Amino acid sequence: MTEYKLLIGGKLREGVSAIDVINPADETVVAKCAVADEAMLNEAVESAQLAYQSWRKLSFAERGAYIKKLTAAVEENAEDFARILTQEQGKPLAQARDEVMFAQIFANYFADCTIEDKVLSEDDNGRIEVLREPLGVVAGICPWNFPLLISLYKIAPAVMAGNSIIIKPAPTTPLSSLKLAELVADIFPAGVVNIICDNNDLGPAISSHPEIAKVSFTGSTPTGKKIMASASSTLKRLTLELGGNDAAIVLDDVDPKQVAEGIFGAAFLNSGQVCIALKRLYVHDSIYDDLCDEIAKLASAAIVGNGLEDGVQFGPVQNRMQFDKVCSYIESAKANGRIIAGGDVPDAPGFIVPLTVVRDIEDGATVVDEEPFGPILPIVRYSDLDEVIVRANNSEYGLGGSVWSGNLDRAREVAGQIDSGTVWINQHCAFGPHIPFAPAKESGLGVEWGEEGFHEFTAMKVVNISKAYSNPVH
Ligand code: NAD
Repeated sequence: MTEYKLLIGGKLREGVSAIDVINPADETVVAKCAVADEAMLNEAVESAQLAYQSWRKLSFAERGAYIKKLTAAVEENAEDFARILTQEQGKPLAQARDEVMFAQIFANYFADCTIEDKVLSEDDNGRIEVLREPLGVVAGICPWNFPLLISLYKIAPAVMAGNSIIIKPAPTTPLSSLKLAELVADIFPAGVVNIICDNNDLGPAISSHPEIAKVSFTGSTPTGKKIMASASSTLKRLTLELGGNDAAIVLDDVDPKQVAEGIFGAAFLNSGQVCIALKRLYVHDSIYDDLCDEIAKLASAAIVGNGLEDGVQFGPVQNRMQFDKVCSYIESAKANGRIIAGGDVPDAPGFIVPLTVVRDIEDGATVVDEEPFGPILPIVRYSDLDEVIVRANNSEYGLGGSVWSGNLDRAREVAGQIDSGTVWINQHCAFGPHIPFAPAKESGLGVEWGEEGFHEFTAMKVVNISKAYSNPVH
């Protein structure tokens, strides 16, 4: 069986042990993955420190050329990446191919980014410059829903800004990142990009490491809080992209048939395992029954199964722990509402969950109030718009939200009242490398993507020049 290796200091390395990576569609073992211990993490940090000294001196154009070489190599191996993604993560092959494509698009976007030094003021007495400089060694800690995309959209801006980086994928989806490591080893100078895996135990050593300047984390809110606590000992820079429970509000002026597909897709993409998936649907009383029926129809017709099989549109839940969690949300839905699609989880190997829609459910049920992160959509009835806005905002999360209406002015008015980092109108889950993504409330801290996200991989430095010797005491 193939054993995927770690990348430390430019070399592909065995770990101190190896773990099995499971295909969530049938629970067979896909491959083995090398696992590092703290000593190997320290080696990776040391090599990253060393590499940083010369990497930071390269121009943006030189660093961008390395990234573009990497994305070209990803393109050459696109089909291998897609198959690995489907087998480790579960998503159907067509969507795995999309992930490989998006990963390249994000990396290429950052490969073209530059930062100009700013001159704040200049006169006969002096000049004040505002610069943005790299931070040093950065760590990227990744979740299991989009393993290749997230690894690459952390690597590209980090190294483009002049940092070196250590990537740690989630232990259930390390293979696409380790396949990437094989390409990186042939392209980048040793130590600029290191990729190590763990058995879910190296996180605290990363977030408290004195030689790591920043952690860019994508994952759950509870883990984000632990990272913030542990990073405080070194006042590390943090970007935390965490959980969400995005609400969508459908106004009374839409045709249910016209919005059903967009809402359905945004709720069930990647079997609902998307941080910005549509997770709570609030529908006006006057169209409630019709929209419930349309969405239930789409969910019942969907083909869920092994993503390598032709015709499969939705894959399994990614791992056993998440599967058990989703099953408990389905039980909560049965107890508190009426299931109108799915709901019966097959008793077979694998983590297949049929797309499940529940209606006649209220705020307060766990499946509405919490983030299920799986293929289950609660549809909640409302009649008063002002009141439903308050309900939509009544969440500790604030990642995204959406408003659906035939009247854009009316929708825009409502969008302005939603407390989340992103609000969409007549769509949900739209994102791109040039669009800053900034979570609100307990959905995280900082910004990813866009110019603002790129700048988060830098530190601001002011150079304040006096043309003659100057003394602050007069
Ligand atoms: P998770 O928090 O369990 O794990 C994420 C990563 O953190 C893994 O690599 C894990 O090994 C590591 N980790 C675990 N304990 C750690 C610790 N104490 N210190 C440091 N690292 C630690 O999340 P998950 O279950 O892999 O992903 C699902 C969650 O991620 C959902 O809540 C989802 O909404 C969120 N997510 C958010 C975004 C976003 O951009 N906001 C994107 C994708 C997923």
